[in-house]
Amino acid sequence: MPPLFTTWRENLLALAFPPRCVGCECDLRDEAVGLAALCSVCREDLTIYAGPQCHKCGAPVVFAGATECPHCAGDFWKFETTFALGQYDGLLRHLVLQAKKVLHEDAARALGDLIVEVRGESLLEWRPTHNMAVPMHWGRRLWRQTNSPEVIGERIARGLGIPALSRALSRKRYTARQALSAPSVRRRNLRKAFAVRGNLTGARVLLVDDVLTTGATAHSCAAALKDAGAEAVAVAVAARSFT
Ligand SMILES: [Zn+2]
Ligand SMILES: [Zn+2]
Repeated sequence: MPPLFTTWRENLLALAFPPRCVGCECDLRDEAVGLAALCSVCREDLTIYAGPQCHKCGAPVVFAGATECPHCAGDFWKFETTFALGQYDGLLRHLVLQAKKVLHEDAARALGDLIVEVRGESLLEWRPTHNMAVPMHWGRRLWRQTNSPEVIGERIARGLGIPALSRALSRKRYTARQALSAPSVRRRNLRKAFAVRGNLTGARVLLVDDVLTTGATAHSCAAALKDAGAEAVAVAVAARSFT
């Protein structure tokens, strides 16, 4: 099992502040844990998909390799595949919401570590060469003081040993609250909302976000990445939402 803390600074911090489960805040010192700071009870509570998933959108499907997915049939996306931990529900939803808050980056780190633990092997099989998080507009970033996809992405990059390019992808426009818009409106709002710095010829980009809902944001990012030369884009998210 990989150690929970890997740098001297983290070891010092662990002495001063004993590790706590990000789900229930219990003391993790006596718990045999994996990479993510979650106790065994919370791990059981998480709605992680163990069965077959849609290759394209990460939703559960009836059998492996199924081509008919009720959730993404008819959607045209610029990304090739999605890796999701599970449905946006229960404790997974709670952790995603916590991760968005400043001073709660431990939840974002745990989600990144959990993706490495649960989907790490499949992610490496996809052979990513670059890791990028869906960026937040600088104005919103200043207001929120944190961008959970960035923190989740850093943990995935570190766990899998692939370079994280945090500044290569940026958000050009401040877009309205996307969750409240219809899918067609979301797509229109996001058209050309992202910009890429540099040349990505031949890159296989792992694009990290916290949740995949309509796929509009990931699609728009993937379009910008492909315009910059990326060969393929895979999306890694903590949760797949259907609303
Ligand atoms: Zn717990
Ligand atoms: Zn699907």
